[in-house]
Order: sequence, then C-alpha cells, then structure tokens
Amino acid sequence: MLAPPTVLAPEHLTPHDLVTYFRCPHELELARGLHARAVGKIPPPVRTPLDVVPLRHSPMFSPPTVHVLVNEGRLDLTDQDLLVYEDNGEDDLPVLFPPERVRLDPRFTNGHSTLVDAELGIAGRPDLIIRQGDGRFVPLEYKETHLFVGYHEAHGRLFDTVQAIAECRLVHTVFGQRPPYGLVLYGDARGGGEREGWVQIPYGDAEERWLKVVLAQVREDRVRAPVPAERNCGGCEPNAEGLCRYAAARYEGPHHRLAALSLPGG
Ligand code: SF4
Repeated sequence: MLAPPTVLAPEHLTPHDLVTYFRCPHELELARGLHARAVGKIPPPVRTPLDVVPLRHSPMFSPPTVHVLVNEGRLDLTDQDLLVYEDNGEDDLPVLFPPERVRLDPRFTNGHSTLVDAELGIAGRPDLIIRQGDGRFVPLEYKETHLFVGYHEAHGRLFDTVQAIAECRLVHTVFGQRPPYGLVLYGDARGGGEREGWVQIPYGDAEERWLKVVLAQVREDRVRAPVPAERNCGGCEPNAEGLCRYAAARYEGPHHRLAALSLPGG
C-alpha cells in the first residue's frame, strides 16, 4: 500500500522575518541560524548558493502606501479606548493607558502573548492592541525613533508598513474582526517626546492580498540573495558575528539602522 503523501507545513514566518527579508533576504537566512544556535538547536541549512549574485534591493514587492496617513504630535486616544493586549516580552513600551483602561485579554497574559495565524503560517507579537470605543481592534507598534527627521528620506519607512500589515492580519485572525488600520507610534525617546508622531497604515483587501503574495514570494525564494549596503550591513546581527561574506560595511551596533534613518543626512 502506498504511504499517504506528506504535506509540508509552510515555512513559519513572523512580521519581523518579513521586515528582515525586505532589507536583505540573506540576513533572514543567517539570522535564523544565529537564533537556532542561541536556543541550543541545530541551525537550518542556509539556502543561499555560493555563486549567488548580490542584489541592489530586496526582491520583496513593496506594500501599498497610497492611503498611509502620517501625523505629527501625540497619538489621539479617546476615553473609550482600552488596552486589551501588551507584549509582555517588551520592557520599554510607552504607558498610554491609565490602569482603569487596561483590560488585558486573559488569553495573552502569563507569558503567552504570541498571536498565531495557522492558515497563513505566521505568528508574532504586536507591541500593543487597542480596542477602540466602537469595538474595533487596532495593533500598535512602538518605535523609539525621531519620526519626521529622516522619515521621508527613508521612503516612509516601508519596513514599518510591512510589519503593521502583517500584525493587522494576526489581529484579524485572533480577534475575529478586521482592523481598519495598524498604528506605528514614533516616541522620540531621545528628544523627550517633542518630535513624536504616528502613522496610520490602512488594512483592507489590497493590503491582505499583498501580504499573501509576499508570503508566497518569500517561501518560494530558494536563493535568499544578499543586499549589501551600508544601511543594511551596519546594523546586521549576523554581520556582527562575522557570518556574512558579502557585507558592504562593518557592523556598527544595533542602533545603526535607526541612526542612519533618523539623523539629518543619515
Ligand atoms: S551583512 Fe549585509 S549583505 Fe550580509 S546578511 Fe547582513 S545585511 Fe545582508
């Protein structure tokens, strides 16, 4: 009798993996090996062939950005908005809600904060999820960077858009309602909050379609080519470990990418 065909599970991906791939597909390969070793697992084989041709830009299709709203100043919250989820693996999240407006969903407390979408094979943890007064759920990602200095030079920080769309899908799956948008809050921690800002990234049919397409694109990519560039390599963890033979710059520290985007001329 023939054995039933084996159905392989799709490659597990996180919003953070998509952001990494959006910078440099080879970094995604190397970072996986690093993280596997860090938890005592055998690193998966690196797909990138030795004769790979480095790319100037990641092959990932850019996310839709036409309706992204960029706002200066403090994030608008109303008295009806509630905090229903907080990533308990993050230490430096902003305190946006007084205690009486914190109603954490018990499914995601006590160290269980990962949202899982089994259909698309993705999982991840937004920083916060807000339940708005009208019952809609909205994920929020917090970045400690200066927003508007360097925002447009960084082409609207497309990688934050990538992350927000993937997190909207996770919230849709777990809470059963499609978020109208995801938020990215730039806290300007270094500037004392004077240059805070936030971006509202819509989540509709176009964004969901884009997400499905790029998940397939990443999974089908058998090459995972390097994208050597100072903006990428200076903050690349595997580069810090001397793992990349294509690096275009020395590793400068984990804040290199933020600094390169947030300082004038960076
Ligand atoms: S050092 Fe540069 S080219 Fe190499 S994996 Fe990191 S970002 Fe990619």
